[in-house]
Amino acid sequence: MKNAASAAKRPAPALLAVSKTQPAQAVAELAAAGQRAFGENYVQEAAAKQAALAPLGLEWHLIGHLQSNKAREAAVAFDWVQTIDRMSLVDALDRHRGAERPALNVLIQVNIDDEASKHGCRPGDVAALAEAIAGRPHLFLRGLMVIPEPHADPELRRAAFARARALFEVLRAQYPQVDTLSMGMSDDLEVAVAEGATLVRVGTALFGARAPRT
Ligand SMILES: *Cc1c(COP(=O)(O)O)cnc(C)c1O
Repeated sequence: MKNAASAAKRPAPALLAVSKTQPAQAVAELAAAGQRAFGENYVQEAAAKQAALAPLGLEWHLIGHLQSNKAREAAVAFDWVQTIDRMSLVDALDRHRGAERPALNVLIQVNIDDEASKHGCRPGDVAALAEAIAGRPHLFLRGLMVIPEPHADPELRRAAFARARALFEVLRAQYPQVDTLSMGMSDDLEVAVAEGATLVRVGTALFGARAPRT
């Protein structure tokens, strides 16, 4: 009950349309229906779509793991990078963003429960990364992003989402500009929203099943 009541008071979460593997045409169709924010996993795959769709003025989020040698490109190609998980990326993205652009919106990706995943910082590292980001003129700290360990039953991700929410509240208490908790995908977005997601990242449920990567 308590959860339902507080969920009712929160604004509806924003929708990030995850367009990886989808052609520019599919993105253009969703844009024509009013969707503005799109998520891509690979800098190179995104570049072709961003070029083709530049006149539409869409908002692009990088949601895939960022290799250091792609940081320069990512810093200028995206409006948001959701996957900062180490100090070297803070430096590289800030250095390459360029003073003529608005600051790059960034989320810290936290490895909230998946011991096997090599991506995302440990929860204990969030404070230091946040402090570093907040001190950079070309980065704008907006919050956290998590991908819980996959479970066949989305209910089993609830505890991880709740832990992410608690970390988010701590961060927000320290940095008033923090407003984004990115969690929830096609198969677990209800649980994520119930636990306080402000941004859900949805691919399959919007575009249909993806073709396997070749
Ligand atoms: C692919 C992907 C999504 C979207 O997943 P769907 O199950 O297709 O909704 C969301 N977040 C990340 C990080 C992804 O890689």
